[in-house]
Amino acid sequence: MTYSVSPIGFVRSCFKEKFAIPRQPQLAPAARGVLELVAPFDQGDAVQGLEQVSHVWLLFLFHQALEDKPRLKVRPPRLGGNKSMGVFATRATHRPNGIGQSVVKLDKVEGNRLFISGIDLLDGTPVLDIKPYVPYADIIPGATNDIASAAPQLIEVRWAESALKQAYTHAQRLDEPLVELIEQCLAQDPRPAYQTPAPEREYGAQFWDLDVRWHYPTPDQIRVLEVIPAEA
Ligand code: SAM
Repeated sequence: MTYSVSPIGFVRSCFKEKFAIPRQPQLAPAARGVLELVAPFDQGDAVQGLEQVSHVWLLFLFHQALEDKPRLKVRPPRLGGNKSMGVFATRATHRPNGIGQSVVKLDKVEGNRLFISGIDLLDGTPVLDIKPYVPYADIIPGATNDIASAAPQLIEVRWAESALKQAYTHAQRLDEPLVELIEQCLAQDPRPAYQTPAPEREYGAQFWDLDVRWHYPTPDQIRVLEVIPAEA
């Protein structure tokens, strides 16, 4: 039996590629985006009352990880990418039906646009539904998960002086907390767990319309090298 679903909107996100997106929402509060609702949900009626809610659950499609053949086992990056586990024990992106869920902060609703932050969503993500976060039901004191018992350990992020200047300039232009965004995302240490890069090896990712480049002077420290306009 098959059912069909269709997006109620799409996310315009600070994240233009999968690399360096935090692995869960709320890990980078400066990660912002706009959920743009499409017809017939774009006329205001469907979001009436939502201004009384601080956070929402978004159900969405991992549109850049959809696969025809469902995987039963996956290798979560959190386990170093070399240990497999049942897909339903993980939040892996490759999963039956490709459905993701994230609790995000709802900063403002303006017409058909929901301004959201603390997101872990790629630009263009199709959203299937929005539900208000209900603290009395959604906070479960004493809940445990021995696979992911705590937030990932953070790594120190430093800046080349010129890169920090570039970031402040672009932050002003974009009117976005760009320095915080870069620090919060890179502190999650996006490199695959099994890589111990040489200091001269550079990594890069696109945030907003910018290319951010960094390296690891030591295995437990990141240094941001430059923040420059991404090639169109
Ligand atoms: N919070 C969600 C969940 O639990 O269902 C997502 C968790 S998933 C591990 C987070 C990762 O999904 C991000 O780091 C990013 O690389 C990836 N991602 C985000 N949006 C995506 C999309 N539209 N298509 C494919 N991958 C996406």
